[in-house]
Amino acid sequence: MSANSEGCVCDYCSFITGVLIPEMVYDRYFCETGSREFVELDSVDAKHFERNNSRVNVVHRVTAHVKFSGVTNTFHLIVKQPRQLDDSLLPFSQSFLNEEIFYSKMTHDYGTDNIPKCYLSDLGRYGRPVIVLEDLAARGYMQAVDDKLDEDHLKLCIKVLATFHGKGLKLREYNFPIFREFYAKLYEPTDWLHFRTSPNADKVRIFESTLKNSALKDEANISEIIRKMEDVTTKLELNDFWTICHGNFTRSNLLFRYENGRPCDVKVIDWSTMRYCSPSIDFGHIFLQNLPGNENLSEIKQFSENMLRIYLEAIKDKYQEVNYKSLEREIISKLPFAYGMIENHMLGETKRMLHALDLLGSFD
Ligand SMILES: [Zn+2]
Repeated sequence: MSANSEGCVCDYCSFITGVLIPEMVYDRYFCETGSREFVELDSVDAKHFERNNSRVNVVHRVTAHVKFSGVTNTFHLIVKQPRQLDDSLLPFSQSFLNEEIFYSKMTHDYGTDNIPKCYLSDLGRYGRPVIVLEDLAARGYMQAVDDKLDEDHLKLCIKVLATFHGKGLKLREYNFPIFREFYAKLYEPTDWLHFRTSPNADKVRIFESTLKNSALKDEANISEIIRKMEDVTTKLELNDFWTICHGNFTRSNLLFRYENGRPCDVKVIDWSTMRYCSPSIDFGHIFLQNLPGNENLSEIKQFSENMLRIYLEAIKDKYQEVNYKSLEREIISKLPFAYGMIENHMLGETKRMLHALDLLGSFD
């Protein structure tokens, strides 16, 4: 058994250093396509990235030194393996499959901009499921420092999100069999959203009652907004705008690169939560959680309309035939569902979110 520099000889580490990386080098995964150089592994080191046992995946940071005709090149990698489950009928968590499909299949149609480079995404070639990605940190990518994304960060993210949704909607329109194959392989049932956001969902109900009984109840308009929201969030119907969503398009899954202190590029990670649903869910997640901390209603309105316009125009860039007005209505009318899914509501934030929905016309 080979030990890594931390001395760990666990099954996951041994697989990476003893099997995975040596075989990937042999199979020329680190070579340019068509290259004929002599390639051999010089050394490999694997470190546990997250030791949290509850996580469904075991993630490693790996450094592989590979010799190309005698010249060493270093590869900084992230290796994801599903945690092996002993007490389940399934060998591992199904969410791993979402991400495996994303990197091995969907990128052919969706492209590879704004995601980490993938060296391998496979369920069995080396004896077990594994995904090998570039380690973006080695190229200077990092999470945003502040809890909330400022307008520069947010605009960048919204454009990237719209590009992903726009490509999906276009694929749905022009090559439905391919599109269907992608979403049909996602593991969550399509009615998950209704389940999580209907007024019967405990978390939402408990929260809303707290809100009603809090100091905010003096604000008649907020109670009225909540009542209107309960009216519109009873049913989420499938329609032609449903597409494949990231499912957790939030700050923790966005890695930025900076130039002169400003974000100039963003990469989206963790595709395990992909869902087939209204694109409003992804948009709502990133938009509502990053509203400016400001109580001025006309500013909230202007900000909200601006972000929505940036999103819709970026979709139109990718999919020009899209019915802009219908899509706009779809996004606005489904935002209450996105709101219902956002956890860790804080009172001030909630008030702003509800106002933003109301000002955009989500309850009209
Ligand atoms: Zn280990």
